[in-house]
Amino acid sequence: MSEAASTGRRLAQLAEIPVSQLERVKPRKAQALAEWGVTSVLDLLTTYPRRYIDRTRAADVADLAVGDEAVVFAEVRRVRGNRNPRGRSRVEALVADATGDLSLVFFNQPWREEQLSVGSQLLVWGKLTEYRGRRQMAHPVVDLVARVESGAVESRMLAVIPVYPASAKYGLTSWEIGTYVKEALERAGELADPLPHALRRRFKLRGRSEAMRAIHRPEVPADPWPARDRLVFDELFRLQLILVLRRRALERAARSIRHAVSPAEASPAGPPSSLVERFVAALPFELTGAQGRALEQIFADMAGPLPMHRLLQGDVGSGKTVVAVATMLAAVQGGHQGALMAPTEVLADQHHLGVRTLTGGLEVPDTGRLGGTRPLSVGLLTNKVTAKARARVLSGLASGDIDVVIGTHALLTEDVRFASLGAVVIDEQHRFGVEQRAGLRAKGRVGSADPDLLVMTATPIPRTAAMVVFGDLDMTVVDELPPGRAPIQTAWARGALEEAAAWERVRSEVAAGHRAYVICPLVEESERVVARSAVEEHARLSASVLGGLEVGLLHGQMPTAEKAEVMERFRSGALQVLVATTVIEVGVDVPEATVVVIEDAERFGIAQLHQLRGRVGRSSWPSWCFLLGEGGSEDAAQRLSALERSTDGFELAEVDLELRGEGTILGERQTGSSGLRLAKLRRDKEWILAAREAAERIVEEDPGLAGHPGLLEEVRFTLDEEDAAFLFKS
Ligand code: ADP
Ligand code: MG
Repeated sequence: MSEAASTGRRLAQLAEIPVSQLERVKPRKAQALAEWGVTSVLDLLTTYPRRYIDRTRAADVADLAVGDEAVVFAEVRRVRGNRNPRGRSRVEALVADATGDLSLVFFNQPWREEQLSVGSQLLVWGKLTEYRGRRQMAHPVVDLVARVESGAVESRMLAVIPVYPASAKYGLTSWEIGTYVKEALERAGELADPLPHALRRRFKLRGRSEAMRAIHRPEVPADPWPARDRLVFDELFRLQLILVLRRRALERAARSIRHAVSPAEASPAGPPSSLVERFVAALPFELTGAQGRALEQIFADMAGPLPMHRLLQGDVGSGKTVVAVATMLAAVQGGHQGALMAPTEVLADQHHLGVRTLTGGLEVPDTGRLGGTRPLSVGLLTNKVTAKARARVLSGLASGDIDVVIGTHALLTEDVRFASLGAVVIDEQHRFGVEQRAGLRAKGRVGSADPDLLVMTATPIPRTAAMVVFGDLDMTVVDELPPGRAPIQTAWARGALEEAAAWERVRSEVAAGHRAYVICPLVEESERVVARSAVEEHARLSASVLGGLEVGLLHGQMPTAEKAEVMERFRSGALQVLVATTVIEVGVDVPEATVVVIEDAERFGIAQLHQLRGRVGRSSWPSWCFLLGEGGSEDAAQRLSALERSTDGFELAEVDLELRGEGTILGERQTGSSGLRLAKLRRDKEWILAAREAAERIVEEDPGLAGHPGLLEEVRFTLDEEDAAFLFKS
């Protein structure tokens, strides 16, 4: 099982060689590279080409006709810069290949004169036009392939030219990076390959040295792809090893509470007796099959010997709140406490109200009076609560008089102490990191065992993406909506006519006794500016398209009591339309609402639109969602069309991933050396699964990676010290 120690340079060694040690990297450029985030030879080698240009497929200049768009490979023969009488700069370069020549023209880019030095070889992509009888391309895309340096043309003579993510800001061109990488590859020599041979064979992966060379300096156009597979696997495998090891370490280090709950309580057969059973029985509806299954898994975890680490995914409206509350109550019924942490104040407020409503009427044993009971007590802790309320909540949590607390990051502050925190639910919304999860778990440790942990995402993320971001958690999917929900018809209203139809629908639904939301444009500024624009929008609509209706206003700057009153009047029907900011994004639940109009919809992301839309369609009446807006960019148009096409959150999550890339899902979590530089969550799904399985298998056989010293070193090197100490503590 043990692998022969691989020779060659290890990543940790490459990380210790500063780029300034390369001969071609002059001090000024070393500085620029550092500012750009590249300080070591490893950083440089993992700065991968964005794309490749197949030089053999460049067109011949002589073959181009006016109007053609093409790539040509040409050399600069002459370059001239001047200014017209109004001070506008114009740079013209005459370029030629063996067949003919043409001019490249740039306005207001005086630096081109220096960039396009005579003798430089360029790849030029643009459209051929004719101006006063001269064949030219105006503002083509130019890649500098080789340039004259100290008199000699240094041509890299590659058939396939890698194009690097150049940085105009730091004055680094693709060409320069290419030359640095070339030197780095030469000087690095053979690279160590820690991947077990069996894995390489199984997935038909190239060796690391070969892959690194082929991705940077491919010889034929097909070269980079198998190389990419190998390097993608490296990244994902390392990450999955860490996640699997973390999971192991948590289990090993854990002191679990064996909660007094059983899976059967998710569907009480006889008369309800436990707190959880009474909660379920008192709900105004039956649990869906998916909710029941989720609770069975959760209760089994909670009753078991290892602390729960579970991710709860479910579409908007699938009823995750009920599952979260039942989880906390399962802890409470054994004499512990539950905490729910939300990412924002507004959400914490809403959850607080929601949880209070759901648990109204529930009684728990009163430890002060033998055989007596008292109402379940639910507290709120955010940075907005008054000092007095805060003191009360803190003492209630410390004494155990508060059973369930809802809060924000404020729950993580020093002075919060729990009598016995048994279950933690984090309403994640992609905003909390591993550290914060650990922070809240550690809270429960004071004098007791580890609380059980349930992480909820407000909107789904694709399964393989979840495996990367939440790979240290088990996963439960609530894959069913409560019965009788009528579908939501979504229309992107692009013009005045369609918009008029939207307002018409609002009026007819209100006339039928239903209610409508209007979501104000997203303003990327302070809460105060958002509030002001909402106030104006409310006035405008009340005086125009919504004239004669009872129109209310809700925004985040209103005092809590006033917000509650507005919601109450909307719920009761005293208000027919609610003009609101995104404070209603998550959690607001008024079944009679059947229309939502979202203004300037192009400003919102897919997940947020899907959440907002989820405020309707909460009953058996048909519902409508109107997205107002021109679409703006290509991207926005694709988002709005996706919403029109699908109401399935998992499907939309895939589209979102495709449109926006990993950034928003991975967030800050995967930065630094553990980051994925090459792997793409969407494109590399298969590799994610493969890496996961391989990581599990290896850790299963060799939990301390003692037989895989190369892998062990890379994992350690990727982690910070504290994390590494935790993972490999025996
Ligand atoms: P989300 O998963 O988006 O957080 P919620 O927990 O807000 O969804 O639930 C959406 C709505 O569905 C709420 O009105 C809730 O009361 C209701 N609900 C939850 N579970 C059921 C069920 N089993 N049957 C009917 N309605 C349900
Ligand atoms: Mg919710």
